Amino acid sequence: MVLNCRHVWDYISGYLDNTLDAQIRADVEKHLEHCEICSAVLDSTRNILVLTADDRVFELPVGFSERLHARLAQVMIETPTDDPESAGGTG
Ligand SMILES: [Zn+2]
Repeated sequence: MVLNCRHVWDYISGYLDNTLDAQIRADVEKHLEHCEICSAVLDSTRNILVLTADDRVFELPVGFSERLHARLAQVMIETPTDDPESAGGTG
């Protein structure tokens, strides 16, 4: 059986989990050998699995949101959009 890309995408999670029928697995591997798109999809899917597999959670520091907003407000104050002094160049 010749698989097209859509078939392969359906099989990718099974492929990574090693739960595919041996024949299907062989067909998927055959497709991956010549299809750059599916190889890339396989790679990125595998990367996502690696990233999410160990239950790592990235927590923001306490008060991060408040500090971020305060910083943004400060930057907007410190960065005038219409500053007459900057128009003159060397002064
Ligand atoms: Zn493909």
